[in-house]
Amino acid sequence: VTLERLTGANADRKRRILFEGGTVISMDPQVGDFVQADVLVEGTKIVAVGPNLKAAGRDGQAIVVDATGTIVMPGLVDGHRHCWQNQFRRLIPNVDGNDAYIAVTHQWLALHYRPEDIYAGNLITALGCIDAGITCLLDFSHNSRSAAHSDAAIRALIEAGIRGVHASAPPNAGGWDEQWPQDLVRLKREYFSSAEQLLTLRIGLYGSPDLLGDLFMTPERLAFARDLGIAVSVDGVIGHDPSLTERPGRPLTSANLEQLGGAGLLGPDVTLIHCLDLSDAAWRTIAESGTKVCLAATSDAQLGLAEAIPPIQKALDYEIRPALSIDVEVSLTTDMFSQMRAVLQTQRMLAFNRRYQGDKDYPRPLTVRDVLEFATVQGASANGLSNTVGSLTPGKEADLVLIGAEDVNTMPLNNAVGTIVSGADSRNVEAVFIAGMVRKWRGELVGQDLSRIRRLVHESRDHILNKSGYPFDILA
Ligand SMILES: [Zn+2]
Repeated sequence: VTLERLTGANADRKRRILFEGGTVISMDPQVGDFVQADVLVEGTKIVAVGPNLKAAGRDGQAIVVDATGTIVMPGLVDGHRHCWQNQFRRLIPNVDGNDAYIAVTHQWLALHYRPEDIYAGNLITALGCIDAGITCLLDFSHNSRSAAHSDAAIRALIEAGIRGVHASAPPNAGGWDEQWPQDLVRLKREYFSSAEQLLTLRIGLYGSPDLLGDLFMTPERLAFARDLGIAVSVDGVIGHDPSLTERPGRPLTSANLEQLGGAGLLGPDVTLIHCLDLSDAAWRTIAESGTKVCLAATSDAQLGLAEAIPPIQKALDYEIRPALSIDVEVSLTTDMFSQMRAVLQTQRMLAFNRRYQGDKDYPRPLTVRDVLEFATVQGASANGLSNTVGSLTPGKEADLVLIGAEDVNTMPLNNAVGTIVSGADSRNVEAVFIAGMVRKWRGELVGQDLSRIRRLVHESRDHILNKSGYPFDILA
């Protein structure tokens, strides 16, 4: 099939696409996996997964995508990232501590952001995601200095064609329009009330009372979100980080979770990010209330947040299956392959170390399938989209990725999930479909003018550098 045929049929809401002959990893136990099978898509949805669906492809009328030599899998899901920062990707790779990160990003560069800078950061982040097989991304957008900044963040996600989750939050430092949170009412009406849109809206809050800005997760703010009919993403769920100081009159992170849980105010519409240094009572209330947990394993370790050991085992001990997230590209990688590998190795290292130390109750080491589940099914769940995406399930939206299994670094295919988690990287992401629309094809993004985007991003970065006086040094 040609790209023209695929894109030309996008307007046809009944058009069928048959992905034929791939190795299918559905991540849905009811559907199962197949050494060789087909996936049939109609409009935006998956309608069937199984061997030999040619006949179901409506008498040969379906557009046929030859998927032989590839692994067909659900799109990867990132549970949280701060997209606006990313004209400064890898600016501070060795940043030491939350304070240092905040000083550079929130207290220095963020102050000079115009709406077009938010747009540029969001656009390259979303496109970097699609390129790496991430079809759903939660953008924790905590530099909305005005309504126009929020509009720009949302517009970029729409233009990228990603399944975006806009978690709206105000800036942490400097002057701003103070339009948050009431502007969420307008945002919801303007951008999130059509059944067609790929985007969903959440409110962004902080779990720690003492982070910069006033974003603390309070009963009033949870009530505001629930009245508006939106879910809640809580970043900075960090206990006793020594760099943080107590704020009078407010409970600390764990105590706050215990109080909210005790009052019945936690639940599956709340996703807690990081979850570092929490009390056992806090973990218990998270587990009992069905509150979602999203790890930010590489940022905990690399930035040195609180105890710096991501609470992978803690979540598992409470029978919580976590989602995964990238957090900050200013210091970390773009893709979820690195993330899955980091989580896999960290948990196995600590589990095997306990065995070696003689601990008879050492935890079960995670498998590649566990972390792939975290990066798909659990990501969708943490982003409030478990009925929509996360697995190749008939009735769900057709967000799927083809991984080259016969490329120079993946051939020959001997273990499909192992190849995805431990073998593949973004170069093996051959094709990406979101809601049945082709977004990457034969290794290239579709419908994006990269030279225009490159110009925008350079202009934006240089503008902010000029205004802020940040001592920029590519060789630092
Ligand atoms: Zn974050």
